[in-house]
Amino acid sequence: MSSTQGKQVIIVGGGIIGLSSAFYLQEAGFNVTVVDKSDMLNGCSYGNAGYLCPSHFVPLAAPGIVAQGFKWMWNAKSPFYVQPRLDKDLISWGLQFMKSANAAHVKRSALPLRDIALLSKKLYEEWAAIPGLDFAYEPKGMLEFFKDEASAHHAEHSVKESRALGLDARLIGREEVQQMEPNAKLDIRAQYTSPAMRSFTPIS
Ligand SMILES: Cc1cc2nc3c(=O)[nH]c(=O)nc-3n(C[C@H](O)[C@H](O)[C@H](O)COP(=O)(O)OP(=O)(O)OC[C@H]3O[C@@H](n4cnc5c(N)ncnc54)[C@H](O)[C@@H]3O)c2cc1C
Repeated sequence: MSSTQGKQVIIVGGGIIGLSSAFYLQEAGFNVTVVDKSDMLNGCSYGNAGYLCPSHFVPLAAPGIVAQGFKWMWNAKSPFYVQPRLDKDLISWGLQFMKSANAAHVKRSALPLRDIALLSKKLYEEWAAIPGLDFAYEPKGMLEFFKDEASAHHAEHSVKESRALGLDARLIGREEVQQMEPNAKLDIRAQYTSPAMRSFTPIS
């Protein structure tokens, strides 16, 4: 009998992190209980876009985010809402976040973020092969469209950076997009595709 067999683990929070931890702990022989304050049908893990993006390797703490983050953090519907409160830890976290939002941090984070996303992709592929566990996993890749000059430059830069990290992304021409999406009316400056990207339907 292994040393983990039958040992009790309680996980607080049944989002993707809690549930995947529960899955692997149970596989390792632990007796797992997940507790959650909600019905788990309204949270972040249930309502997200279901993208698995190895080519999204830029951390949240990046140049430009501080001004944007200030606007977002007061809006309960934004992706960066922080309940306003005078909390020492929160203030200290905010100051560290602001200090980290620089180009050197972005550069340092790219490899680990790419590797975490690639590992996640591998694990999602293993889950997709489990009979009866259907979460609409689709190995379709992703097309991103950019409408103005500044975003077109951003697209070129993203593709260059992705390729430098060994990821399969490339800029594609309007004709190729039109062939992929024959019914779409295109009003775009640049487009790129990341065939490595995956999507799925979030479930709890
Ligand atoms: C609009 C949107 C789109 C997104 N799209 C993507 C995407 O395409 N791809 C991607 O990779 N990521 C995406 N994300 C990010 C992703 O959804 C989150 O990073 C991820 O879901 C976080 O999972 P989690 O398990 O840490 O937290 P959560 O999903 O927030 O789960 C935490 C759980 O803990 C419970 N809980 C909290 N406090 C307590 C307590 N005190 N007692 C008991 N239970 C508690 C909550 O009820 C909740 O069920 C998106 C996020 C948003 C908001």
